Amino acid sequence: MTIIQDLGIYKNNHLWIKREDLIPFSFGGNKARKAQLFFQEIEKGDFDCVVTYGTSNSNHCRVIANECCRRGKKCYIISPEECESDTFNRQMMSLFRAKIIYSSLDRVHNTIEDTLNELKQLGYKPYFIEGGGHGNIGTKAYVMCYHEIKKEEEKLGIHFDYIFFATGTGTTQAGLICGQLLCGDQRQIIGISIARKNPRGRTVVMESVKSFLGNEYDANIIEETTIFVDDYTDGYGTSDFRVDSIIDEVLIRFGIPLDDVYTGKAFFGMTEYLKNVSNKNILFIHTGGTPLFFDSLRRRK
Ligand SMILES: *Cc1c(COP(=O)(O)O)cnc(C)c1O
Repeated sequence: MTIIQDLGIYKNNHLWIKREDLIPFSFGGNKARKAQLFFQEIEKGDFDCVVTYGTSNSNHCRVIANECCRRGKKCYIISPEECESDTFNRQMMSLFRAKIIYSSLDRVHNTIEDTLNELKQLGYKPYFIEGGGHGNIGTKAYVMCYHEIKKEEEKLGIHFDYIFFATGTGTTQAGLICGQLLCGDQRQIIGISIARKNPRGRTVVMESVKSFLGNEYDANIIEETTIFVDDYTDGYGTSDFRVDSIIDEVLIRFGIPLDDVYTGKAFFGMTEYLKNVSNKNILFIHTGGTPLFFDSLRRRK
């Protein structure tokens, strides 16, 4: 249960922030929440190593490598060589003794297959986790998060009209939407895309929702409920001055670190989205990525 912090009136609305970045393991974030459920599965089964993938920016890979290392399981990370950079996440993956297997972007899928096959041939029992912790287990983690939000609303006696956050693989968003649909709640859950464009980005979220709720679920309702904003993917973040300045503003005013890959873009996208909205209760979910905050700080020195 992470805290929801009241940030007061912000640009004509009342803003709260759910601090997923403060989940108390490996710098927290949504990947730490998902990892808890993945490792319950891994511990239940007969697995001795984990295979996953992600770039050097990946918070997911850092958390998985940390979990593996403390449990004495070998971690294999397939990583696209085109996206390689010197990051704190990458440094920690090495510290956790994860084996990084580089692959060209177009061969990532094959490399994963090859790695799993080789490990099995050698007699190991690998557990595969999709990049970003995508899949029904990751979705479930955010259905649980949605229920936490509901509890907090009851306690505070308020209703969040909007929920904003950074969306990547869409698993976090799918979980929140499933939670909303299962509870029959009226509100807008808005994923600010950090990379994917529509229609694909939105389609992936809807597929995750369908996969979790089952094919009998009314597809029209899923369509209506899935809001995927792709206006802030190109030219924003990593070097956009508007994202940088909002990161500075949030750090100065609230003492909360945002990064320029995920949360800074999402926060900026939220303020743009809300330009003509007032007197609403807004929840921003801080999905983590604190090591990336330090990368951007170092870049800008
Ligand atoms: C991975 C990540 C996201 C996106 O989460 P998805 O479930 O993949 O959509 C958002 N913010 C941060 C900090 C992340 O690491």
